[in-house]
Amino acid sequence: MGSLRPARWPCRGGSARRVSRRHVFAIHDVAPSCFDEVVEWRRLIGERTLGPVSLLVVPHFHLIDEWTQPVTTWLQAVINQGDEPVLHGYSHAAARRGDEREFRTLSAGPAAARMQLGRQTLAALGMDCHGFIAPCYAAPRLSGRALHVAGLQWWATRLSINTATRSIPVPSLGVGASTAMRRAVTPTAVRLASQAIRRAPRVRIDLHPADLHHPRLRAAGIELIERAVEHHGETTTHSAMLDEDPDDSRRDQPPTIAATPANAMTAPNSPGFVGGFCVCEDVAMPRNRR
Ligand SMILES: [Zn+2]
Repeated sequence: MGSLRPARWPCRGGSARRVSRRHVFAIHDVAPSCFDEVVEWRRLIGERTLGPVSLLVVPHFHLIDEWTQPVTTWLQAVINQGDEPVLHGYSHAAARRGDEREFRTLSAGPAAARMQLGRQTLAALGMDCHGFIAPCYAAPRLSGRALHVAGLQWWATRLSINTATRSIPVPSLGVGASTAMRRAVTPTAVRLASQAIRRAPRVRIDLHPADLHHPRLRAAGIELIERAVEHHGETTTHSAMLDEDPDDSRRDQPPTIAATPANAMTAPNSPGFVGGFCVCEDVAMPRNRR
């Protein structure tokens, strides 16, 4: 099976363009056991914008998921229409049971080797990835050499998209479903954070399968989608953002975030802290809830 490249919408490799405001929708944990939820988030986005989506794909989710023909056929179809597959770990599981931060304790070398394995696994399924986002954004700082070893061109943190030579500030927002406290607080927190960064030139919206199982989180996710479409210009992908004028990128500064209750909610070492405002953890759904 040949590699799949976006066809309908602009993607990496096009000419550099200057677009003042852009946003990315990132559907996390794209894997067979989360397939229904992934399709649902894609449908909810598609009802609000015709733009492409970044699909954060896990090659071997929890080391037990097996790819099936209906899932790969759907993925191939949306990727052919312009959606972007992004490598999202390999198993999305650390050695400690219940810990989803697969890359948290890896140094750059082992991380690069695992990224390479993941990229090759997805390539065999027809998904040609150019970028990497670690589960829970927990990863060592990756060098150009690590990217080269893995066969990738960029990686992203909660705050930026990075290549071997440059970094574009792009804050990410998303709700959290892992605990009752997060489910209670994060819809309001992300609403405030969304207001605080409404003038940011670029923003990413993180959408997780588990969010759909909680009506308030589902509603908050839809609200984030609608705010992004309304306030942040063109819907695009991570890779397409890197096609922007590098000079324009160097002039960018991270958005100034006003003090909000969300700031006070998270401590600097907590999963939700992103250097001034709150976003939430990337949490896979418990298997008994899929
Ligand atoms: Zn994830």
